[in-house]
Amino acid sequence: MPGPLQLAIVGAHGRMGRALIAAASHRGLRIAALVVRPGSAAIGAVEPTSGLAHGSDLAAALGPGRVAVEFAGAGSVAGIAEACATAGVPLVSGSTGLDAAAKVALEAAARRIPVLTAANFAPGVVVLAHLAALTARALPGFEVAIEETHHVHKKDAPSGTALRLAEAVRAAGVEPTIASHREGEVIGDHSVAFTSPGERLTLVHHAAHRELFAHGALAAAAWLAGRPAGRYSMEDVLGLR
Ligand code: NAD
Repeated sequence: MPGPLQLAIVGAHGRMGRALIAAASHRGLRIAALVVRPGSAAIGAVEPTSGLAHGSDLAAALGPGRVAVEFAGAGSVAGIAEACATAGVPLVSGSTGLDAAAKVALEAAARRIPVLTAANFAPGVVVLAHLAALTARALPGFEVAIEETHHVHKKDAPSGTALRLAEAVRAAGVEPTIASHREGEVIGDHSVAFTSPGERLTLVHHAAHRELFAHGALAAAAWLAGRPAGRYSMEDVLGLR
């Protein structure tokens, strides 16, 4: 019988890291380690909700029985994936804008540990991708336009979610356009519009706060614990595959 979920949060001092700490507290989940980047000013500072000090020793944070949840940014993913594989700790990876090296590292890690990645952990976005694929198949000849709006701090454009939606539409043989907007502190808005000369159908998703993604990532961590090595997605968690 496995014990209660123990989380190692990597990127703990970032926007998503803080949302994960809040969401874990709301769900009554135990955080075992808070990992920040080497050299971070947060090292040693106690995070009040968990009572844990931030640290930068990733290997030490990846103890037996833990699940790592990372939102540390694309440039850190390869190193985190390798460390999780070495420690035998399952990995939930949320960073977007991954380069080829990060993707290869996640694939290599997934041969040794369970790895779950998602460009967007909101259940509504997972369903949106399915609806976009279904609609593209059902409305051949329609033009498809994807739009996304995010906060001005976001590093990648188009968003990982917009790219995921484009992939879903492309599977039906349609090449969509993608427009990205960066405004204020917008958490994440996505739309997929299907247009013919006579009509327009628009699918829209609005994320109200970051805890939405955090709750999805924590649900994914609970689902991933104890699974065999391999690649998993939110479709698996939601039973949509
Ligand atoms: P952020 O910059 O606020 O936070 C990232 C944090 O990770 C920073 O504090 C940074 O110092 C830290 N960090 C960098 N390298 C590290 C390392 N090696 N070890 C530990 N910490 C490290 O960014 P954010 O807004 O929290 O977003 C993080 C990533 O998550 C981005 O790629 C973003 O696009 C993605 N994101 C994904 C989803 C999703 O649902 N999948 C949702 C929101 C954001």
